[in-house]
Amino acid sequence: MSTPVSTTTLPHWIGGHADESPSERHTEITESATGQVVSRVPLASAALVDRAVGEAAVAAQEWGRSSLSRRSKVLFAFRELVHAHREDFAALITREHGKVFSDAMGEVQRGLEVVEFACGLGELLKGDMSSGVSGGVDSYSLRQPLGVVAGITPFNFPVMVPMWMYPVAIACGNAFVLKPSEQDPSPSLLAAELWAQAGLPDGVFSVVHGDKEAVDALLTHPDVAAVSFVGSTPIARYVYETGTAHGKRVQALGGAKNHAVILPDADMDLAADGLVSAGYGSAGQRCMAVSVAVTVGDSAEPLLEKVGERIAALRVGDGTDPASDMGPLVSERHRARVAGYVNAGVAEGATVLADGRGLVVEGREGGHFLGPTLLDHVTPGMTVYDEEIFGPVLVVVRVDTYPQALELVNANPYGNGAAIFTNDGGAARAFEVDVTAGMVGVNVPIPVPMAYHSFGGWKDSLFGDTHVHGPEGVRFYTRAKVVTRRWPDPAHRGVNLGFPVSD
Ligand code: NAD
Repeated sequence: MSTPVSTTTLPHWIGGHADESPSERHTEITESATGQVVSRVPLASAALVDRAVGEAAVAAQEWGRSSLSRRSKVLFAFRELVHAHREDFAALITREHGKVFSDAMGEVQRGLEVVEFACGLGELLKGDMSSGVSGGVDSYSLRQPLGVVAGITPFNFPVMVPMWMYPVAIACGNAFVLKPSEQDPSPSLLAAELWAQAGLPDGVFSVVHGDKEAVDALLTHPDVAAVSFVGSTPIARYVYETGTAHGKRVQALGGAKNHAVILPDADMDLAADGLVSAGYGSAGQRCMAVSVAVTVGDSAEPLLEKVGERIAALRVGDGTDPASDMGPLVSERHRARVAGYVNAGVAEGATVLADGRGLVVEGREGGHFLGPTLLDHVTPGMTVYDEEIFGPVLVVVRVDTYPQALELVNANPYGNGAAIFTNDGGAARAFEVDVTAGMVGVNVPIPVPMAYHSFGGWKDSLFGDTHVHGPEGVRFYTRAKVVTRRWPDPAHRGVNLGFPVSD
């Protein structure tokens, strides 16, 4: 099977087919490890988005009425195909995003788990029934599809984040229009080919590449019923406000600044392993990365010594090299931005314990590399604390007591994930209850819920009410209806202008 990456200019995917309509605007994708341009990505106009939504609206009519068993067969077939092509997906991720291949395989696995969750659609879409709510009257609830729904996704998980959305939306009977990140869109085209092979009717899954123009066209299109967004906080807020102003249901997941609190009684080896894995995995480009370590009392010295040893052992290189622990950043622009944050941290008085700015990977001099960086004695008010860096930069804030640590975490405007490292069950339980974050880890640095729970943050990390996948995902992509029925019964004939109450 041909994979989309072999084409010079990527197609859109509309109405069940690759669409190579000429485009006035393009962007380029570079291979992150070498900096070489590998593909051109067309940027959709509003007219092209309108065409994709139009095809989706037609397809949604039939798909939304198709039997659960038919939908279920397509979902299971898609699951098998994604599983069979998992290495192809991972190779595309490593090429365009840059993360190491093993990490990319992990990403595909977590996406696949949402597909598997959606395969249980018969169970997920079951309604409730109350027999005999009044004499001869029964009530039952239905969950029905919305029609056309759109997904707008970030660069950092080009397979998993779209899969948080479209398997559930499609299982629920909707047509889905995906606008993936223009920085690494090829895996979405592979998914489109696999949906077609799985027997999904044309138009139920579409991919349009683009930037603000395409996003705005989706947010304002009268035939788009709901929008799922994942990306940075300013754009998430904009998507939420614009989409809801146009009458759409919107869930918009934003950025993060995830704190890990380390109490003095923690297992310091476990905590150091956790901080290094969660701080530098995927070069820090994860919305659940730990970017702030909050050391309580005298935990800082033993912890930082162990973190330093582990950083020194990390190998940074091309993601296709099995010896690499950490790959490059997604683009040169992003690498320069992250380096700029480190410069600001140094200028603002942070102590540099590890500095990745000068890193050069031999043979990959054009790659967007920046090594693991550790900044100590950081305080709120410094740019490296206040802003999301989204790179391999872990900052350390030292506090004296647990209440100070909790206050710091809760004062942060973001609330995606938070973790605590301790052996004290009472402290851990208090943290679970009191912390203002949507996903909490106890001795677990990256507490990403499984597919059958829902994923989402609080505060500036989520605009809207519903988290993605799991039961909340099913609710987001359906609307409820309650039927109250009575079959003709001569005993109940007669007009009654009073408000209906049960007998
Ligand atoms: P981004 O906000 O730049 O882009 C996300 C999407 O929005 C892309 O599809 C992009 O094309 C589109 N977009 C960009 N600028 C736009 C504009 N002005 N108007 C309309 N649409 C626009 O995010 P990114 O750099 O691709 O991804 C990294 C960000 O995503 C980080 O902030 C990270 O924390 C966040 N993220 C959050 C989660 C979560 O679950 N909360 C998960 C993954 C990533």
